[in-house]
Amino acid sequence: MTFADLGLSPELLKAVEDAGYSTPTAIQAQAIPTVLMMRDLIGIAQTGTGKTASFVLPMIDVMAAGRRRALMPRSLILEPTRELAAQVAENFEKYGKNHDLKMALLIGGVQMGDQLKALSDGVDVLIATPGRLMDLFERGKIMLNGCELLVIDEADRMLDMGFIPDIEFICSKLPETRQTMLFSATMPPPIEKLAKKFLNNPKRIEVNRAASTNADITAFKVPVKSRSKKDTLRWFLENDLVETAIIFANRKTTVRELNQSLSRFGFRSSEIHGDMDQSSRIKELERFKAGQVNILVASDVAARGLDIKGVSHVFNYDTPWHPDDYVHRIGRTGRAGAKGRAFTFVSEEDAEAIANVEKLTGSPIKVFGKEDVRVDLSEMLAKAEAAQAPQAAAEDEPREERPARKPRRAREDRPARAPRREQDTPRTDRVTASEERKPRRHRETDEPGKPGEWNGPVPGFLDVGFG
Ligand code: AMP
Repeated sequence: MTFADLGLSPELLKAVEDAGYSTPTAIQAQAIPTVLMMRDLIGIAQTGTGKTASFVLPMIDVMAAGRRRALMPRSLILEPTRELAAQVAENFEKYGKNHDLKMALLIGGVQMGDQLKALSDGVDVLIATPGRLMDLFERGKIMLNGCELLVIDEADRMLDMGFIPDIEFICSKLPETRQTMLFSATMPPPIEKLAKKFLNNPKRIEVNRAASTNADITAFKVPVKSRSKKDTLRWFLENDLVETAIIFANRKTTVRELNQSLSRFGFRSSEIHGDMDQSSRIKELERFKAGQVNILVASDVAARGLDIKGVSHVFNYDTPWHPDDYVHRIGRTGRAGAKGRAFTFVSEEDAEAIANVEKLTGSPIKVFGKEDVRVDLSEMLAKAEAAQAPQAAAEDEPREERPARKPRRAREDRPARAPRREQDTPRTDRVTASEERKPRRHRETDEPGKPGEWNGPVPGFLDVGFG
């Protein structure tokens, strides 16, 4: 199947080609013809499946006919966060470059002046977060009765963030005859109810089972004591061929602390969380996307749905409290066909949360080290290596494909801490001091490994079992 088979206009096909896409993803193949036929749609799909283009592309063709009017947007896309709204706007710019369509972005945290000016000039596509939209609507700065097309994106996230009443209000202000699309990674009962109320005979498209996780992601849980989480994380960052990683923590304070700790240990890390203002969030994100840092410590709100290419690893430093967040978090890796690895740290405090995650995804997550064949392999190799220890030691040179990061500072350069806190101290029963400082090489062949493929030793923390 090609994009040309889906009924898109030649201008759009050109833009898609320029974007470098040759084959529609599963959701695009099913959703695009449906939207072009002006039908309502429920898309059960997580981010990373190409779902944004599945509504943006046909919307551009649907909107191509018709005229703009001041203060009356012709279509509306609701997004739960500013970052997601900005990302959808980028998609519009990319795919709509051969069309004369006007788009406006209504998000909180930025000056309203330009947004109001765009609205009064007339827009074809309005991309908004519910809060800012409600704000402007209540002030009479926007009319919604000319809006023929509505997209509710990331509906389950809207639910988590308490936006459902706002969405119901907004829906009630739109014309009854309109086309509505709702996208959600999962369909909890309140979202089913919302869909029943505001969608008309929708076509239901499901790619990947609801709450399932992407087949391109190898996911593990890592049993670990709370106090050892930092050590364990650093062990993975140094040994799992991490190129780029997003590390999720449940609390903003943990995000900040963790970023500070990683930076102290010489990792090129940065942070993003809900307490930061919009411009700092965007700035940190850009640094990560540009490769100036390769580790981003994040909270859920700040990182929801972000499309960051080539993230080799996701770490759940804490098991997420909301099981849906698990699906969203690990969906940051393994995007658009690339392979990724996701590790969820599970301490005693995370026991209930992981049980909920596994209930939602419908299967237990593999325990790292017990079910990863690469660990068995490395055990064998470790034995083989032990037999040839003197030779191996002589050859132990820095590996070229080491994850790019600054050399660790010498111990004496580090901030004076006496005594060193347990959680910031590499434990010698896991990784010996000399191993820890030396760049590691592949044990198997000394050939560069594929990004994300684990090939290191078995870490000591695996001894902490689930019983
Ligand atoms: P999304 O699920 O919308 O967040 O998209 C995930 C990523 O897939 C984005 O980086 C898109 O640019 C990319 N993408 C979307 N459609 C395609 C396609 N047909 N082929 C390859 N990549 C795509």
